[in-house]
Amino acid sequence: MSITKVTQHPTQNEGLIFERSQTGRVGYRLPKLDVPGSDAIPAELRRDDDLEGMPEVSEVDVIRHFTRISTWNYSIDLGMYPLGSCTMKYNSRLNEKVARIGGYTNLHPLAPEEESQGALELMYRLQEDLAEITGLPGVSLQPAAGAQGEMTGVMLIRAFLDKRDGDASADRRVMLIPESAHGTNPASAALAGFTVKAIRANADGLTDMEHLRQLCDEGGVAGLMLTNPNTVGIFETNIKEICDTIHAAGGLVYMDGANMNALVGVARPGDMGVDVIHLNLHKTFSTPHGGGGPGCGPCCCTAELAEFLPVPRIEKSGDRFHLNYDLPESIGRVKAFFGNFGMMVRALSYIYTHGAEGLREATETAVLNARYVAEKLKDTYHKPYNADCMHEAIFSHKHQSAKGVVTLDIAKRLIDYGFHPPTVYFPLVVEGAMLIEPTESVGRADLDAFIDAMRSIDREISESPELVTNAPHSTRIGRLDEAAAARKPVLRWRAETDAMTSGA
Ligand SMILES: *Cc1c(COP(=O)(O)O)cnc(C)c1O
Repeated sequence: MSITKVTQHPTQNEGLIFERSQTGRVGYRLPKLDVPGSDAIPAELRRDDDLEGMPEVSEVDVIRHFTRISTWNYSIDLGMYPLGSCTMKYNSRLNEKVARIGGYTNLHPLAPEEESQGALELMYRLQEDLAEITGLPGVSLQPAAGAQGEMTGVMLIRAFLDKRDGDASADRRVMLIPESAHGTNPASAALAGFTVKAIRANADGLTDMEHLRQLCDEGGVAGLMLTNPNTVGIFETNIKEICDTIHAAGGLVYMDGANMNALVGVARPGDMGVDVIHLNLHKTFSTPHGGGGPGCGPCCCTAELAEFLPVPRIEKSGDRFHLNYDLPESIGRVKAFFGNFGMMVRALSYIYTHGAEGLREATETAVLNARYVAEKLKDTYHKPYNADCMHEAIFSHKHQSAKGVVTLDIAKRLIDYGFHPPTVYFPLVVEGAMLIEPTESVGRADLDAFIDAMRSIDREISESPELVTNAPHSTRIGRLDEAAAARKPVLRWRAETDAMTSGA
């Protein structure tokens, strides 16, 4: 692959918009102020600094500046985005269009029930579909993220135990969590007042049953938080036995459903013995994920736990929908109004446009794609577990690090090949991990191109490793000091200093 110096191109050497500023240049014309009297705006509200420090630019300056910068972005619309554990998939534009229907976007959350029947019905139907998909009949759409869905779910467990055990509940405060878990799991457990004990995995990457039983025998177990398929992409085949073990110890099972993209339409957590789950509508069910926008992390639970779900509950009587706030056992609200409604519209649109068959096919394709990558790369990259993966394939840098090249270098070099790097160095249980989740939205040709790129990088590591250790070569900037960027961000332009180097 030839390395071109792209930074000379006018679209690539864009400075800050302040550097385009020319005194007196404007992008607008306002009519003459015809408000009578000079005191139309009170003096203390008028600014007197003449907008000092603002860039003075024309319309075309603004348009070109931001359009050029936008072309430096990598996006799901541009190519494969194989972030493991995150389900960054392409979703149909139709769902976006439906979410923009005026009747939905203009509805005020405080509009009376009789004027919100359509929106209430939409939420009610989505709840019913998510109940069917998970096999868990109690659903709240309120949580605004996966992490908040987790917190809601463990609060349900806490409320259930407090009611069941009374004062004795205080002796039951241990939440078991696999050591590979997403960091939000122990955080949610701690927020709900539990202490965390880590469960080891066995050599196959599955929950170590012996260790699980031992921890249960130690007593005080309130529950288990498990991701399935787990965080190394493998289905916990002992799930039923795991649930039985926890239930026998008097605890409940929470499943982190962020990986539902591997199960929808094929297997239901409720049937496996799971008591509570959260879903990430912004991973599995269409909302674009990763742009920092709003999310939705519905919490689904057994009938037994439903009385503790957040208020208000959406209920149906006859063909009318209404909100019930009068649920004395509820943990209360977890989010203003009803949660992030636009995500719910997208999710229902996604479910209806796929249908049951289509949802199953999406799941099967997601798993097939990951297994294809796993199979094609297993001779090139070290695959730490033998089991067939589900929706994501995990590798490590073991073979390459022996030649002085590590996961970060491989990830950076992938950028030169036109791919967004996969998730790296997560989960922590695999040293130098590369967690690759192609999703169902990638076709065979793109998968092959990705596999070719990964193999080609491995060849480069043998032939000219510095090509990889110095990558990326095709981008405007190379490697950033990411820690400094996060800890000492430069967020303000100061005309009198060089803002890019001042660190202020
Ligand atoms: C993404 C993810 C979460 C957290 O979801 P957010 O919406 O980012 O809060 C939790 N667990 C797992 C396994 C995830 O992949």
